[in-house]
Amino acid sequence: FVAYFSQLFGSLEKAQFGLVKGIELKPKLEMIKEILDVNDEQDFETTSPTPLKIKGEIKFQNVSFAYDGDRGQVNNINLHIKPGHLIGIVGPSGGGKSTILDLLLGFYTPDSGSIFLDQYNLKEIPLKELRSKMTLVSQDVFLWNKSIKDNLQYANPDASIQDLEKACYEAQILDFIQQLPQGWDTVVGERGVKISGGEKQRLAIARALLRNPQIILMDEPTSALDSKTEAHLQEHLERIFKGKTVIIVAHRLATIRNADSILVIKDGEVAEVGTHEELLERKGIYDQLYREQFQAN
Ligand code: ATP
Repeated sequence: FVAYFSQLFGSLEKAQFGLVKGIELKPKLEMIKEILDVNDEQDFETTSPTPLKIKGEIKFQNVSFAYDGDRGQVNNINLHIKPGHLIGIVGPSGGGKSTILDLLLGFYTPDSGSIFLDQYNLKEIPLKELRSKMTLVSQDVFLWNKSIKDNLQYANPDASIQDLEKACYEAQILDFIQQLPQGWDTVVGERGVKISGGEKQRLAIARALLRNPQIILMDEPTSALDSKTEAHLQEHLERIFKGKTVIIVAHRLATIRNADSILVIKDGEVAEVGTHEELLERKGIYDQLYREQFQAN
């Protein structure tokens, strides 16, 4: 029962994602239905880890993909992400950043080229297995109409209250929970206490910590741009997710300033790669984005 609803809500979350971006909803919904009907998938935020051991190395080899027609494609993407590295993906809107995450999560398969997770070709890994190795902290965090405790324990039913406290402390949401009159029992979600986008995202980070997968994917919300706590949290992601492979699609460049490597995606292609300093020195797209943000603040 829980698995069924987690699937359903996982799908709604992705569908909403499509709507928010003002892009065609149908292909994604159809694709999600396919995943649900054919493979009986569970939501990747709640699927329990499976025994397949992976280090978390990710490779894209000449990956190209187009949605229906010729819109929204990524072209000949080549990437090599080492296990335990933190990678930032930045670039102009509509460039293909989220599409790269969607391909990695198995929402779409490349039209040509291959994606590897360690030595395994992604198309050979069952979706359930694949998603048990990853967590997506997306722009639209789904919360069930349940208590905060239940929402967290979906990620790991065996987690004790001490585990919840530790994860929430790391995700900088513990103080917020403790000062609520009902504490852990506070009901959140559509019909519960309203919480901000930043608080939802911190709960999602706590969920990711409780679930403890090897790969963490984050799509940074633009809505929390003005939140100080958010900025502080993002700057500590490196420490919070130490040892994990972390890929962050970032709109605020400060978030990924300390990343091991930053990819600049433009018009579906990897336009630049390097560390923050290297990319500034190059005086290209990244440098320009950085100066725009710097001047805006
Ligand atoms: P943003 O920074 O605005 O989130 P992005 O770099 O993440 O953008 P994507 O969301 O990957 O870009 O989109 C890349 C291109 O693919 C865009 O032109 C977008 O309109 C298109 N696109 C994305 N999803 C779909 C879809 N489901 N169907 C058709 N086209 C799509």
